[in-house]
Amino acid sequence: MINISHIKKSYGATPVLDDVSLSVKRNETVSIIGYSGSGKSTLLNCIAGLEPYGSGTITTGLANAKGEGTIGMVFSSGNLFPHLTVMQNLTLAPVKVLGLSPKLAEEEAMEILERVGIWSVRDAYPESLSSGQRQRAAIARSLMMKPRILLLDEPTSSLDPASTSEVFKVLSDLKNQDMTIVLVTHSIDLARAISDRIVFMENGRIIEQGTPAEIINNPQHRETRTFINHSVNLVYNIPSERYDHPELNARIEVFCLRYRLSHSETYSLQLAVEELLNIIPLDKGVGVIITKLDKGLKIEATLPKSEMPYLADESMKEELSYTILEGLCESIEEEANEIGETVIRLTIKQNSI
Ligand code: ADP
Ligand code: MG
Repeated sequence: MINISHIKKSYGATPVLDDVSLSVKRNETVSIIGYSGSGKSTLLNCIAGLEPYGSGTITTGLANAKGEGTIGMVFSSGNLFPHLTVMQNLTLAPVKVLGLSPKLAEEEAMEILERVGIWSVRDAYPESLSSGQRQRAAIARSLMMKPRILLLDEPTSSLDPASTSEVFKVLSDLKNQDMTIVLVTHSIDLARAISDRIVFMENGRIIEQGTPAEIINNPQHRETRTFINHSVNLVYNIPSERYDHPELNARIEVFCLRYRLSHSETYSLQLAVEELLNIIPLDKGVGVIITKLDKGLKIEATLPKSEMPYLADESMKEELSYTILEGLCESIEEEANEIGETVIRLTIKQNSI
C-alpha cells in the first residue's frame, strides 16, 4: 500500500532522512517511535506529499476518480477550523472537494460522528470541546474523505489520560476497518495497543522494526533498548543532595497516571523513593529507575563505586526510614554490579500499596 524506497532528505547540510526504506501492507497498522528530532514527522509529511524529498521514491495506493481513497492526515493539534462547528468542519471538504450534496455529507458525518462517539457535540464549536473530543473530531473529519491510508502525527501528545484512552479506542476501532494506518507516537502504550509493527527511528534512520512484543520486550539494538527503557520506565538522575524533590514527585505522579495506579499506590511509591533517598548518600549522584512489574513496582537505585554496604549495614536497622521501607517493600536487595557500582533494588507489592 505504501512503498518507501531509499528516501533521503536534508535541511542544508544536515541529513534528516538518511536512506529510509519501509513498506506498509494494506490494512496494516505501523507505528513510528523515536526521540524528538529523529525525522518521524518529516517521514510522515513526505508520505503525505506535504514535503519534498531529495532522492528515493514513495508510492502509495491511488485515489479513485472522485478523489476518494487518498491519504488522510491528523496532526497532534487537531487543526479544526475554529469558526466552524464540528459538523461544518466535517462537511466542508466533502462538499467542496468531492462535490457531495450538503445533505448527503451531513448524513455521512452523522454516521462517522456516532462511530467516534461525539455525535452529541456536532453543533458545538471546537473551543468548547474537551481535548479528546477535539481530536476525535479531527479524526472524524479526515475519515469523511474516505481515505485508504490514515497518517497520524502524535495524535495523543496534547491529551490528558482520559482523552488519550478515548482516542486509543477510536484508533483500535479503525484498525479493524479497511484502513492502512501509519502513526507517529511518543506513546509506547499506544504503539503497543494498536500496531502490527513498530518502527524505531534515530537520526533519520530506521534502526529496528518488528512486532510490538519484539520491539518493546526484546529490542535487539542498544539504541532501541535505551529508548524503550526511558519510555517505559521512569529514569531519574539525582545529581546531588540538592535534588529537585517536587519535580521527582511530579515525575512519579505522571508515571503512575500512565499505568493507572491509584492515589495510594502513587503515594506509597513516592514515600518509598523518599525514604530510600533519605538513607543513602546522594553527594556523588544516584541513578533511579522505576519499573512497573506485572504485580507491583521495582525501584532500582545505582550509586557510584564504593566499599560500603548501605542498606545491608547493621546500623540501618535503627533508622526510621529503613523501618518504613521494610513495611512498604516485599524485598530489599543490595549488590555490586559488574563495574563495582552499588545497586539497590526494592520491590513493592501491588496489594500492599
Ligand atoms: P520528529 O518528528 O522525529 O521529532 P522532525 O521530522 O520534526 O522530527 O525533524 C527532524 C529534524 O529535522 C530535526 O532535527 C529538525 O530540527 C529538522 N527540521 C525539521 N523541519 C525543518 C525545517 N523546516 N528546517 C530546518 N530543519 C528542520
Ligand atoms: Mg514530530
